[in-house]
Amino acid sequence: MLNSRTMEIQNLLTAAGLVNLSSTMMMIVSQHVLLHFKEFTFEDAVGIANEINGSISERALHMRNWVQQTPYWRESVPEKLRGKLLPLLAVLATHKALDQELSAELKKIREEGVKISCQKKCSFCCHYPVSLSDTEAYYLALMLKVGGLPIDEELLEAQQSLGSAAWMLADSEKTRCVFLSKEKTCMVYHSRPSSCRSYMVSSSPEFCDQDKYRGQKVEGIGLLEVELLSSTQSSFGGGLLPHKLKKAFTSLTPEDLEVFVHMTSWHKSLRVGN
Ligand code: SF4
Ligand code: SF4
Repeated sequence: MLNSRTMEIQNLLTAAGLVNLSSTMMMIVSQHVLLHFKEFTFEDAVGIANEINGSISERALHMRNWVQQTPYWRESVPEKLRGKLLPLLAVLATHKALDQELSAELKKIREEGVKISCQKKCSFCCHYPVSLSDTEAYYLALMLKVGGLPIDEELLEAQQSLGSAAWMLADSEKTRCVFLSKEKTCMVYHSRPSSCRSYMVSSSPEFCDQDKYRGQKVEGIGLLEVELLSSTQSSFGGGLLPHKLKKAFTSLTPEDLEVFVHMTSWHKSLRVGN
């Protein structure tokens, strides 16, 4: 639970323009403020918000530039699809960079003795409200359309009426992510949103059980570079997974299937290039 000093810091940062960031990123920034500022004014908050927002935009721009320098992009992507493909490929590039950074950081903190509780088939967190960007939703909608995944459409429909606050109070059967399989694995593991990739805890898995603890005993692990990369998605707006997924899925057109073909060819070309 946030104490009043932390709440005050977070409110100042939000008012200063640090918005749409994950709770883990906000926790990292608040801890920094608690350590380094005796007094924390609105001007201080503006300085930090500008620095972090600038840092996130820089990473997002780097990913787009990187995509535009790949041979497949330069030689094979038709002009008419570039507007839709660029953000999509930048998401894939960001996910790759995020996974690499995460793996290096986890190795480091494990060596320092930090215990990470997350493991395969542990899935209480797949009942939390997952936020994703519009482009990540488009990516998942394409995977859903082309892969024909067996998701529970009735559940997806029922989740349309749940906002973040109601989500935290709802029973876990209503908040199960539609991509969570009966075997408790993620059906879109390689395509999952940044927020799912970067979320992990050091507390016992049972504390993640929303029905019992409502997140009160969860101790998250915050890694700055991982969160900055993850924020390149959340900072561009977005919303809860069920809402964004349904909207993206119902807006798909035949042109989007062409986009999918180029997306997979671009991805394969990277492996060949490697
Ligand atoms: S966040 Fe909690 S529920 Fe999710 S994998 Fe980690 S320990 Fe398990
Ligand atoms: S997308 Fe996958 S990892 Fe993320 S909440 Fe859903 S099932 Fe879990």
